[in-house]
Amino acid sequence: MAIANSRRAFLTAKVVRPALPRPLGALAEAQFAELCTGCGDCARICPEGIIMRDGAELPVMDLNAGACTFCGACTEACETGALVPGQAWLWRARVDEACMSRQGIACRACEDHCDAQAIRFRLITGGRAEPRIETGLCTGCGACIASCPTGAITLHQNTQDTEVRPC
Ligand code: SF4
Ligand code: SF4
Ligand code: SF4
Repeated sequence: MAIANSRRAFLTAKVVRPALPRPLGALAEAQFAELCTGCGDCARICPEGIIMRDGAELPVMDLNAGACTFCGACTEACETGALVPGQAWLWRARVDEACMSRQGIACRACEDHCDAQAIRFRLITGGRAEPRIETGLCTGCGACIASCPTGAITLHQNTQDTEVRPC
């Protein structure tokens, strides 16, 4: 009954691209929403404990809770076809204006947490340093997100260069 209710609630709502990533292997949003029953199998099996429910009771990855290792367990656990192996992972990190380093406060926490070495800092005026995320190196794992004291980093489905703009 809970599944039926959540599904009905979702299907009566407008299908929009979620602000947070669906689990690894998710089909395009409309297809995902049609197939996902909200059973929670993906969330239960995730060893990192980063799969939560959104307002429609469907799974999203909360990268403030940890990083995705791309282990694929969530994809394998899904029996409905909502998560399918081989789907491209297009999410990449982006830094916004809340970054302390951009304001002249020493901080390199995100760089320290990025195993892919995708974050570089460029000195700019006033003793400030601007973070630059190389999308070619960024895996979209989200390990940098929880490390940021001001919550300046989020993931976006964006294959473009994510360099923050100068003030
Ligand atoms: S790929 Fe692994 S770590 Fe990432 S969300 Fe799925 S189960 Fe969790
Ligand atoms: S296992 Fe599949 S059907 Fe179940 S909640 Fe996760 S994505 Fe949806
Ligand atoms: S999402 Fe992962 S790979 Fe990309 S910048 Fe953050 S820590 Fe590095």
